[in-house]
Amino acid sequence: MDLFSSLSQEGSEDKNSAMQELVTLKETLNHYAHHYYVLDAPVVPDAEYDRLFKRLQQLESLYPELLDPNSPTQRVGGAAVEAFASHRHAVPMLSLRTETDSESSGAENFDIRIRKELNLDTSAPLVEYLAELKFDGLAMNIRYENGKLVRATTRGDGEYGEDVTHNIRTIAQIPLELKIIDPKALTYPVIPQVLEVRGEVYMRLGDFQKLNERQRDRIAKGARGERTFVNPRNAAAGAVRQLDPKIAAERPLSFFAYGVGEVIWGEGIQKDAKELVNVFSTHKTLLESLKALGFPVDAHAELVYGAQGLVSYHQRMGQLRKELPFDIDGVVYKLNDTALQQKLGFITREPKWAVAHKYPAQEELTKVLAIEVQVGRTGKLTPVAKLSPVFVGGVTVTNATLHNQDEAQRKDVRVGDTVIVRRAGDVIPEVVGVILDKRVGEPAPFQMPSKCPICNSLAIREEGEADYRCTGGLYCPAQRKQAFLHFAQRKALNIEDLGEKLVDQLVDTGTLKTLPDMYRMGLSSLIALDRMAEKSAANVLKSIENSKSTTLARFLFGLGIRHVGETTAKDLAKHFGAVDPIMSASTEALLAVRDVGPIVAASVRAFFDQPHNVEIVDQLRACGVRWEEKGPDELQAPLPLSGKTYVITGSLTRMSREELKEQLEGLGAKVSSSVSAKTTALIAGESAGSKLTKAQELGIVVLGEDDLDTLLNNH
Ligand code: NAD
Repeated sequence: MDLFSSLSQEGSEDKNSAMQELVTLKETLNHYAHHYYVLDAPVVPDAEYDRLFKRLQQLESLYPELLDPNSPTQRVGGAAVEAFASHRHAVPMLSLRTETDSESSGAENFDIRIRKELNLDTSAPLVEYLAELKFDGLAMNIRYENGKLVRATTRGDGEYGEDVTHNIRTIAQIPLELKIIDPKALTYPVIPQVLEVRGEVYMRLGDFQKLNERQRDRIAKGARGERTFVNPRNAAAGAVRQLDPKIAAERPLSFFAYGVGEVIWGEGIQKDAKELVNVFSTHKTLLESLKALGFPVDAHAELVYGAQGLVSYHQRMGQLRKELPFDIDGVVYKLNDTALQQKLGFITREPKWAVAHKYPAQEELTKVLAIEVQVGRTGKLTPVAKLSPVFVGGVTVTNATLHNQDEAQRKDVRVGDTVIVRRAGDVIPEVVGVILDKRVGEPAPFQMPSKCPICNSLAIREEGEADYRCTGGLYCPAQRKQAFLHFAQRKALNIEDLGEKLVDQLVDTGTLKTLPDMYRMGLSSLIALDRMAEKSAANVLKSIENSKSTTLARFLFGLGIRHVGETTAKDLAKHFGAVDPIMSASTEALLAVRDVGPIVAASVRAFFDQPHNVEIVDQLRACGVRWEEKGPDELQAPLPLSGKTYVITGSLTRMSREELKEQLEGLGAKVSSSVSAKTTALIAGESAGSKLTKAQELGIVVLGEDDLDTLLNNH
């Protein structure tokens, strides 16, 4: 059945078509519920299930005579699987009514219903609620008899659950034996003879990521029967319903307690009936008691009053949602007074005194219209799925990242596919998986292009790296802004006045295309920009002009060759002495440079193998960018400070530390950051501290600024 067509029939409410739609909806929902509850492998996002569920509820309320007691709307969860022993719950485990309406109406509707049920008129005080987070895991009933854990059961169909004691015992947060940890917090500090604690087993986001990484690793190594999980809930459910407790123990689960099932105080306990009733007289005291018995209780549970209190809680927790270390899909409002809860009771599958108020879904279903490859500022190629617009995680999403070739291949996303898109918090939307049943025909699998889609340069993937990168470097328009900023930075050509905003404007207006354009640009193109006065424009041009006189190392670093940082640039400059020999050096020749390994050598080679990069170097020279070059003879001569190591400390008044470092290195010295027995001398400026003390202790020569001038002048 087509999911979308079932929805598009909305509006055609005549009984015959309603009957047909009911049948298909029930079939589809049962199919989805089986995958979700029994197989722990949902085939559609919750939002899709919820939409169909709501539609079914709507039709059933329009035609009550068509209501079938076996309808998914009349049942809780899914049936117990035979592999586990089935247990009848002493107290049924219900589901929750869900409100998905806009923020205020979901909360207001609930408050209106409660006030009506309790016959409260407008003059009655605000109702007291206990609001909690709605953890996205699975409900568990943990039974203690005489303080010892005897059985843990899933919710199952609400009446019968599955016995998963063997796995629940592996969760460190769940006590195997009850102890009163905080007697003062208990209204009645006695452990009941029978206590069923109810709560949610869930997986923290960090644990989920680690688990999936491990699973991917196992699959890559050829392990059979392993799979990754679509979300933390699904992973938690899979772990709880493992037959092998060893596997369950490997999958880190957490627990939050939020209720009780059967409670029997027992014969031997001297009962003060009044006091006992008070123990769980409110939901708040119940939570406090569970905490005092050592169960994890979430700290966000809060007493709130009236509809406004609920609305505010929903909003505040909605803000917090993206920072939580676990998934929530909404908040739960509960009437705080237990006696009133009992008075209201429940209908079919849900209590009347509680409601789940959901947040916008973080996962949705949509279609892939195309797969494009985007090139980032650093040349990284990222496949991006262009999607049919879909509202997910509170925004309309039209793009979702496929990360890289391996991820795209693993998920096997193809054009035309129906996919699940996830957007949680501020994280970039991603495609979680493909609904294979909905694939039409045999669309071609995605393949990363061998050329950059922007500049047509070769795209390469280095060994051990996940990403393909464009080798176009300076030439590639996608990398332009980054290239200019890199070239202009202090450690490169040091063009102080060329900041990020200015580069953005100059690239966007087309003034700057390749690096040499910077030296060709005139005052008029700068003045034409927003908020650029003539004086500041002149300053920019002046700092560009000043940058023309530089060093080979700075120039090489400024080119932004991948893996060529400041130090490697210095090593290359020192080794070759001039730029032409570097541009034409073979990989072997590059490997002969100190500290240059195969990755750096290959990267330098790939860069200069692109004719447009060589052209840019030539043009920059033609624009007047210059540095001192050394011929082969000069390279052989040892530099005057070769073999000497200096450490600089304190503040210098005559030049910056950076400048001094450069001068010393230019003379062949090494500049280190810490004083040791190998230090030739410590150069100490004003307010020198611990380094000076250490140098004095080690008897190392200390040079002041005057000594330094002499040293530099001598060479
Ligand atoms: P539910 O999960 O929406 O609400 C009830 C459950 O909330 C409880 O059983 C409990 O486990 C949990 N809960 C979390 N925090 C709680 C708290 N503080 N207090 C009380 N309970 C708390 O309802 P449901 O009946 O379990 O199932 C419906 C959900 O399952 C929907 O979200 C639906 O989308 C999803 N579902 C999805 C598919 C699918 O194919 N994707 C299929 C079936 C069901």
